[in-house]
Amino acid sequence: MQPVVKHLYVHIPFCARRCAYCDFNTYANLEDRIEPYIAALCAELTLLAQEQSQPSHDSPLAIVRNDYLPPTARVSRATLQPSIFFGGGTPSMLTLGQLERILHAASALVPLDTAEITLEANPGVLLGADMAALDYLRGLRELGINRLSLGVQSLHDPTLRVLGRTHTAAEAYRCFAAARRAGFTSINLDFMFGLPGQTVVQWEAALAEVLTWGADHFALYALILEERTPLAAQVMRGQVSVPDDDATAAMYEAAMYYLAAAGYAQYEISNWARIVEQQPISANGHGLCQPDDLDSSLPALACQHNLAYWLNSDYLAAGAGAHGHVYPQRYANLAAVDAYIAAVQAGRRPVAEWVPLTENDLYAETMFMGLRLNAGVSLAHFRDRCGVDLDVIYGDLLCELAQTGLIERRAWGVRLTERGRMLGNQVFARFV
Ligand code: SF4
Repeated sequence: MQPVVKHLYVHIPFCARRCAYCDFNTYANLEDRIEPYIAALCAELTLLAQEQSQPSHDSPLAIVRNDYLPPTARVSRATLQPSIFFGGGTPSMLTLGQLERILHAASALVPLDTAEITLEANPGVLLGADMAALDYLRGLRELGINRLSLGVQSLHDPTLRVLGRTHTAAEAYRCFAAARRAGFTSINLDFMFGLPGQTVVQWEAALAEVLTWGADHFALYALILEERTPLAAQVMRGQVSVPDDDATAAMYEAAMYYLAAAGYAQYEISNWARIVEQQPISANGHGLCQPDDLDSSLPALACQHNLAYWLNSDYLAAGAGAHGHVYPQRYANLAAVDAYIAAVQAGRRPVAEWVPLTENDLYAETMFMGLRLNAGVSLAHFRDRCGVDLDVIYGDLLCELAQTGLIERRAWGVRLTERGRMLGNQVFARFV
């Protein structure tokens, strides 16, 4: 039997050092656990592949294949590439041999030859790799990893130090240039704004500079001060200050302006892709909108893996603390590295929690994830994913949101207005 879920997230929970703002499930100084972790990860992938091919009656994957859902709801209309996403943590701490073993195990779930395979990389770690960064990056390409996501975060060295990053802006650029030389044609750069001490003018200067690099994709997120992080504590104590909401909103607007002017299409609230010759890919093919609405099309360099999330597709996840979603359940793996390894060594799926999803969850998630996309949610996509017409479920709410100027309704579906994008969280909350 062919696997039914074609997207896989792989979590690598190791970092050389913890950044001051980070609350991800990641650990420093656990280098001695990396080898047993890789062995456990490969074993978990094998267990997942066995469940996918031979679902037992009590497996949540089995529920998907039974007649629990109406037939039209089983498969998203989305025609996304299969995908594997190595996130973390710092996946670039792994050796090429370790990555090769994981990919070999993952190949039972996702066809490697047609997949988008992304690896998150930290410039500080790449430069500190045992082998030269260029050789390491070439090795990644040879393994079939075809998309690199570099965590640059800022081009201001004092700010990078406050954030606890282990690289400078110049080193981040060297990594980017090395990745290009190694043959990566799809490189994302992660940046944050609303950073300690940052001004709008500084942010605009950083945008102007980084846009000369010629990256393929940007993911730009406002800093969130997570509780119990060292940076949040510093802000509480008044040792550092962060821009207020108005300044952060101005930085977001500046990003939209600068990136559009430089030839990048915003296709999601925080994501932009470089516009290339063959675009636009017909968004109609992705079930997102109609072909007469090309301003809502997906850019060719859009991240396929993240699109799977925004289209509320099913995805598997492996690794400590990883979250998977296979309707009608989602699951969260054990977060602690040792507990995760022990569970897999005992021959079990290392799942800490199964969360059943109702039909209302499916409808709500399809809306609040899909509305993050500039293309919005098409009637066809909602019907294919949920097995029911959008207006039957949300007709009254959509009328109200349209009257308040937060969404626009078109013949093909709905999407956020510019105002709705600025107030996205308020809109999303209405669907929950
Ligand atoms: S490198 Fe990334 S995952 Fe690791 S501590 Fe820093 S922000 Fe967190």
